Formats: sequence, structure tokens, C-alpha cells
Amino acid sequence: MRAEPSRILVSACLAGLKVRYNGLDSREERIERWVLEGRAVTVCPEVLGGCPTPREPAEIVGGTGEDVLAGRARVVDTTGADVTDKFVRGAYETLRIARETGASAAVLKQSSPSCGSARIYDGTYTGRKIPGVGVTAALLRREGIAVLSEEELDELDELMPDSGGSRPDDR
Ligand code: SF4
Repeated sequence: MRAEPSRILVSACLAGLKVRYNGLDSREERIERWVLEGRAVTVCPEVLGGCPTPREPAEIVGGTGEDVLAGRARVVDTTGADVTDKFVRGAYETLRIARETGASAAVLKQSSPSCGSARIYDGTYTGRKIPGVGVTAALLRREGIAVLSEEELDELDELMPDSGGSRPDDR
């Protein structure tokens, strides 16, 4: 039996890695510290799925991440390219890493078509958001892994009892 402390997955961009579509990060100090302390494992589902960085921004068209997994919706970038297969592959790669690391929870970037856990863009490329989850968040939840966002870090205190630190910016 392993006696390792609970580990979580975190969106790589939240840990300061420049993997967002625009080549930038969405660094959150507390998450970056968890990674440096070896208590969190970074994942970027879109990079894991084969997307380059930088890349064209993409949105889910015709539904949510659950619909994408069920084949009822697609992920399409702003050039019109269908990138659904990459997003689904990235979701399953993230699930594989969760299982390998024994992670029971993930903190993923809100509003992303992969990582969003409460809101996603609505598929019109106009900046509007709708309630819904991204493709990776949907798969992890379906498989019993808790998915939170950077807006809910305090809820992780039970899992990460030594974390402390400052509250994240709400951007
Ligand atoms: Fe960050 Fe997730 Fe987008 Fe990767 S897929 S850049 S981890 S929000």
C-alpha cells in the first residue's frame, strides 16, 4: 500500500506554465506553490491531446463537454477547424495521469473548453459564456474525480491542509 499524501491535478496554466492558446499563463500563486512542493501534478489537456502552443482559440459548438464526449457536439477553433479529436484525446490522457498519480481531485481553469467546470464559452466566439463544463472536466467528473476551479481554492483546504496562502485573483 502506498502512503503518499493526496495529490491533485492542476491546470498547467494555473501553475504558471505558458501553455494557453495565446502562449501565456494564468498563474495562481497558491497552485504554483503546490506544484513546487510536489503536492500537485500539472496537466494541460489541449497540449496532451496534440494541440500546439500558441494555437487558435477554440469553443464547444452545440453543447457542453458532456455532449462532446457523447458525440453530440464538436470543438471548433476560430479558423473553423474541427479539433474535437484532440480535445477528447487530451481528456483521456488527463484521466490516465489522474489514475497513475492517484489524484482524486483536480483544480482546472474556469471557462476553458477543456478545463471549465462551471462555465464555458457559448460557441459563438463573442465572449459570451453559458453554464457548462469543458471536455476534460466532464470526463474527470464522470469518472469520479472532483473538479474545482481556481475560484474555489479554499474548498481544497481539507485535501491540502497545509496549503494556506493568499486568495487567488478573480480575473
Ligand atoms: Fe490551461 Fe486547460 Fe487551457 Fe491547458 S487546456 S491552457 S491547462 S485551461
